[in-house]
Amino acid sequence: MGSRLKKWLGLARNSKYVSAFLTRGNVRAAIYMSVIVIVLECWMLSTLGQNIVQSAAAGKPRDLPWIVSHAAWYVGLIAIAAVVLTYCIRFVQGKVKSGKVVQALLVLFSVACLVFGVHFGNNSYIKGEQVLAFATMTLFVFGIPTWPPIPALVASAITFGGFYAYIDHNVPATLGTQVNLFTLWIATFVVSLSSYHQRLSEASKERELEETNKRLRHIASYDEPTGIPNMHTYRGAVAVLLEGIDELDTHFSVVYMDVENFQAYNGRYGFAAGDHLLRDFAQGLLEVFDNELVARFSDDHFVALCDTAVVPERVESARQLLNSLRGEVRLHLKAGAYELTDEHDDVGLACDKARVACNQIKRMADKSLCIYDEKIELAVTRKRYIINNVKRAVNEGWIKVFYQPVIRCSDGSGELCGYEALARWDDPTYGLLPPFVFIETLEEHREIDKLDRCIIEQVCRDLRAEIDAGKQVVPVSLNFSRLDFELYDVPGFLDEMGHKYNIPSSLLDVEITESALTQQMRELQNTMDSLREERYSLWLDDFGSGYSSLNVLKDFQFNVLKIDMAFLRGFPGNKKSGPILSAIVDLAKDLGLVTLCEGVETLEQFEFLHSIGCDRAQGYYFGKPDPVKQLPAAV
Ligand code: C2E
Ligand code: MG
Ligand code: MG
Repeated sequence: MGSRLKKWLGLARNSKYVSAFLTRGNVRAAIYMSVIVIVLECWMLSTLGQNIVQSAAAGKPRDLPWIVSHAAWYVGLIAIAAVVLTYCIRFVQGKVKSGKVVQALLVLFSVACLVFGVHFGNNSYIKGEQVLAFATMTLFVFGIPTWPPIPALVASAITFGGFYAYIDHNVPATLGTQVNLFTLWIATFVVSLSSYHQRLSEASKERELEETNKRLRHIASYDEPTGIPNMHTYRGAVAVLLEGIDELDTHFSVVYMDVENFQAYNGRYGFAAGDHLLRDFAQGLLEVFDNELVARFSDDHFVALCDTAVVPERVESARQLLNSLRGEVRLHLKAGAYELTDEHDDVGLACDKARVACNQIKRMADKSLCIYDEKIELAVTRKRYIINNVKRAVNEGWIKVFYQPVIRCSDGSGELCGYEALARWDDPTYGLLPPFVFIETLEEHREIDKLDRCIIEQVCRDLRAEIDAGKQVVPVSLNFSRLDFELYDVPGFLDEMGHKYNIPSSLLDVEITESALTQQMRELQNTMDSLREERYSLWLDDFGSGYSSLNVLKDFQFNVLKIDMAFLRGFPGNKKSGPILSAIVDLAKDLGLVTLCEGVETLEQFEFLHSIGCDRAQGYYFGKPDPVKQLPAAV
């Protein structure tokens, strides 16, 4: 038999949900029915009472068997209805749970109602009246509760057949009565059948709705790709914790975790594998932070909440977890923690602080955890101050140029051949700030152009003043950020300043750091071509500090190679420094580049550079950066 037909006939097994739904519906039906029956039969009892009184008054008192036989029907039905009502109410209240007992009581109650209907229907029929009591009870039993089609068909057939046989036995039925009873049977069965199917379709709709709601609730609280709680859940949980934090003995910390180098994993194994790794890692974190809270913050960032005392051990477990999943890509777990202090702490701000702490140890290979402390707080405040005040610093002249001399080295003369312009922020609150405090922050917020344009203008103004004063001038090299080339037209601005102060391009050199050249190659190439056409000398700064130094030499055309001071730092202690420097100088010469070594601090270093043919040198040995262009110390 086809499954649809089986279902239609009520022969297919209903799911637990649908069965429970039908039971719930039948409980409600049983309550309505029992209440109606109790009210009706009480009314009937009262009319019976009136009948007895009136008969007695008329001098024709009813005899006891007559009274008992009539009252027994009403009282019996009321008693059964009362039992059904009590059980069903307790079922609704959750005090009893058996659906089977409900069904059994309903069957018993229905049979009682039908027998009642047959009895009183027959009484009326014998008196030549309508069989309304029977009709009412059959509609009542087959129309209000829900019965599966086959049992409904069988039960209604027995009821109508039995009733017909009973009355026909007492008074032979006419054709009209036969037809009426047959029509009533069909109508009753159809009502029962359609009620059953309507309830079934309601059940499936309600189920769909409930499942959709469940899914929506899940989506609202969980991160779909990783299957762990999302930030909505996390924020809610932390907010609840904060409300009672003053009464807690335990100190809680927000832990922010970042999977460093995750892009490389995506690059190597593909995005699908990357998603898989994040899911596995997130699921693993649920075990690491067992009975605590962990959620996905965004991308490859996660947050957790745990006892401050266990933060280091949890982060270590998370680190080991990541190591076990990372394949051949070097992924590092970096974590920052911020301890929640009082109810005024804000969840978002707490996560931000934990993230700031985490960012402090980026690129520090040996550190996985950083705890937010006062030092970081100060740095964060200063950072915010820098962003909010960069315009003011430029306008009020807090941005100053310091000049560091560059000397000729190949001829050993130590003669001045240029200056490097280095920015300082001379702040009324924080004092003289070195570039590492503000350059990165300004780059992060794409505000670095404001500072660099200011430096360029000051350098041009200083050169003009010196030329006007009849002084001998040497070229000044300017540092550019990678972002300068995105934020404004560098050749155009240099040209504008050159015109404004009447400074030839031969007096301005352009330093670009090696790390700036790994991105947006084509656009940068074009800008560099324009600068070369304008006869600016192009310098590659910090050569050897990045990963792709040699590629940069291959892909870009420079005039001067500034060798990173890291190479000199170990000299002469590190035996490898000398040969490496010598090889770099030889290579640069082969490529037709002028060489300049940064960070010269001793005479010995200078003499070595001279011996290997390095063209120029710069460093504290000749002079530190100074607001006044100092002559280099004599060699
Ligand atoms: P850089 O361009 O490589 O500048 C050289 C840095 O090395 C300067 O640090 C200088 O003071 C320092 N230095 C020079 N000789 C020695 C030495 O013998 N020993 C040691 N230990 N250090 C020495 P500073 O001025 O702190 O600048 C740091 C970096 O900030 C610069 O590195 C440059 O990348 C960036 N920077 C400086 N001024 C500007 C600017 O106006 N614009 C941009 N975009 N970046 C700038
Ligand atoms: Mg430089
Ligand atoms: Mg440098």
